[in-house]
Amino acid sequence: MNTQVLDARHDPMGAAIADFYKNGIAGRLRVLSSMFDEDEIPVAHLFREEDEMGELELKALGLSKGRILDVGAGAGCHALALQDKGMSVTAIDVSPLSVEVMAKSGVDDARLVNLYDDALCEKFDTILMLMNGSGIIGKIANMPQFFARIDSLLAEGGQVLMDSSDLIYLFEDEEGGVDIDLAGDYYGEVDFAMQYKNIKGEPFDWLYIDFETLAFHAAENGFVAELVAEGEHYDYLARITRK
Ligand code: SAH
Repeated sequence: MNTQVLDARHDPMGAAIADFYKNGIAGRLRVLSSMFDEDEIPVAHLFREEDEMGELELKALGLSKGRILDVGAGAGCHALALQDKGMSVTAIDVSPLSVEVMAKSGVDDARLVNLYDDALCEKFDTILMLMNGSGIIGKIANMPQFFARIDSLLAEGGQVLMDSSDLIYLFEDEEGGVDIDLAGDYYGEVDFAMQYKNIKGEPFDWLYIDFETLAFHAAENGFVAELVAEGEHYDYLARITRK
């Protein structure tokens, strides 16, 4: 697995987060993909406060306990909300500009480190992976490495709280039939690249996964996935613990 962090010159999301933090406004954070039309992430959304959060992420915050690791923390919205409740959070991200903003905005322990870097070697009671947190797994083929890494970071009795979406709706026709190539790659494996102003990031793999498939791979790797709640549009929150 890649254990690197981003170069600050090629950190589009971080640049957008830094602009928004400084000026209260940012340009378009564009999301490019070989599979979809161009999209964008509203930068203000990355700074959402608790009263602007969705039901699934609120549920995740409510279930968080003990020492918490927020993986891919972005602008730190969940870390800040948990700190407000008196909880202890380590927020990690590979984006140097995002980590700088998190530190400035009061995240007590914001670290520029990749989830897969062994420099991160403490144990956590709760590992949060939110805003399609399964994305960081990248590809189905990475499941064994992902769960091995989780195993090394999770304290006894610890949990992972992860949200994702089932992309099946993209392949459904009007009659409810599904057009996917079962012999091909898993339909939730996508590629993205971000662009902000003239800063272009490297393309990366991002995994959307349906709950059944997640539960299958969890079981294969010594874990149990439990469906905590379902959202309004094929999205859900899962809780993953050791078997
Ligand atoms: N959780 C935040 C932001 C989600 S965007 C929120 O809900 O608002 C996903 C974040 O994951 C990005 O900031 C990206 O830089 C970070 N990321 C991607 N791969 C990572 C990895 N391997 N280790 C740590 N962070 C990662």
